[in-house]
Amino acid sequence: MQLEAMYQEVILDHYRNPHNKGLREPYEGEAHHVNPTCGDEVTLRVHLSGDTVADVSYDAMGCSISQASASVMSDLVIGKSVKEAMAVGDEFLTLMQSRGRGEPDEDVLEDAIAFAGVSQYPARIKCALLAWMAWKDATARALGEAS
Ligand code: ZN
Repeated sequence: MQLEAMYQEVILDHYRNPHNKGLREPYEGEAHHVNPTCGDEVTLRVHLSGDTVADVSYDAMGCSISQASASVMSDLVIGKSVKEAMAVGDEFLTLMQSRGRGEPDEDVLEDAIAFAGVSQYPARIKCALLAWMAWKDATARALGEAS
């Protein structure tokens, strides 16, 4: 199977069977983000235990890329320290800014490497980043950094 087709399959899998979807308690931070260019919306909750991301849950609507990205993101950050999870987020942001020329590290990004091709389509990059931005925002609130 070609790499691109394999990536597409990963995205569709997460879209059809999203992980961690459905808002859960407890949580310390919540954020609602909208991507007006596509119409995607996500409400996302973060539960921290010390400096560990104990849980992430969300409710989302919109295109397959935004939905799949939320699912992949939640899998990636849950169980990591906030610092480690932020580093993965930075890696994903770098991939999205690579204009299709990124060399994603599968050990770090796991299923998120499937979005490598999205970086060639500027209009879709915001779809892929939406849940990550909401997660960063909700985490900042959970840490008490937001005003
Ligand atoms: Zn979208």
